[in-house]
Amino acid sequence: MSEVFSPRVIVALDYPAEAPALALIDQLDPGICRLKIGKEMFTRLGPDFVRRVIDRGFEVFLDLKYHDIPNTVAAACEAAADLGVWMLNLHASGGRRMMETAMARLAQRHERPLLVAVTILTSLGADELAEIGFVGSPEENVQRLAGLAADCGLDGVVCSPREAATLRAQQGDDFLLVTPGVRPATASLDDQTRVMTPGDAIRAGSSHLVVGRPITAAADPLAALSAIAEEVAAAV
Ligand code: C5P
Repeated sequence: MSEVFSPRVIVALDYPAEAPALALIDQLDPGICRLKIGKEMFTRLGPDFVRRVIDRGFEVFLDLKYHDIPNTVAAACEAAADLGVWMLNLHASGGRRMMETAMARLAQRHERPLLVAVTILTSLGADELAEIGFVGSPEENVQRLAGLAADCGLDGVVCSPREAATLRAQQGDDFLLVTPGVRPATASLDDQTRVMTPGDAIRAGSSHLVVGRPITAAADPLAALSAIAEEVAAAV
């Protein structure tokens, strides 16, 4: 397995087409960032796009948030591992058997990608959570599902930087906390509301930061990335 903690910045590739994504990638340095490919780009461009990004030397977090019966999720995880991705994710609410089966299938490989869980989508408020039958506050559910993911042997969770301190205390130093919702102090918030700066997120316990528009929409993406990477290095 590659070095887990470095680089800690994961740039979110959220583009409707391949050309602008590759134009951005060509300005970045795989030594100081990894790349996240999500449902939009994967659905438009497919696994070949993932391969092309990996061929350019970048490690890829495939953010497809699997949630299905255990055998189907485990098979999808194997397919992602065959693609050569560095990290992938699933929904913890798929349950213990789904997570354990996925992890067991990946663990059979000589080299495996990291597997992290989404606990509660940060877009879900207390009312919507109650409406789909979850009891307790979003925070309580995040903590319970993070504990379940850890118990199933997963490498970590995706979470808000606001949840990082609690989860770091709960799960110890090795558990990965992958956090979007990060904005440099000088950057636009875009549609994010509750954000933290890169340095504060790392100090709160985040292991990896997912950053999109502050880098992808910057006039000089490499300069924006480098500034964030320096802020992270100073906070570790
Ligand atoms: O451009 P920005 O930095 O807001 O991009 C953040 C990335 O992280 C996007 O791909 C977004 O979908 C993802 N994300 C998020 N908040 C979550 C979960 C994922 O912003 N709670």
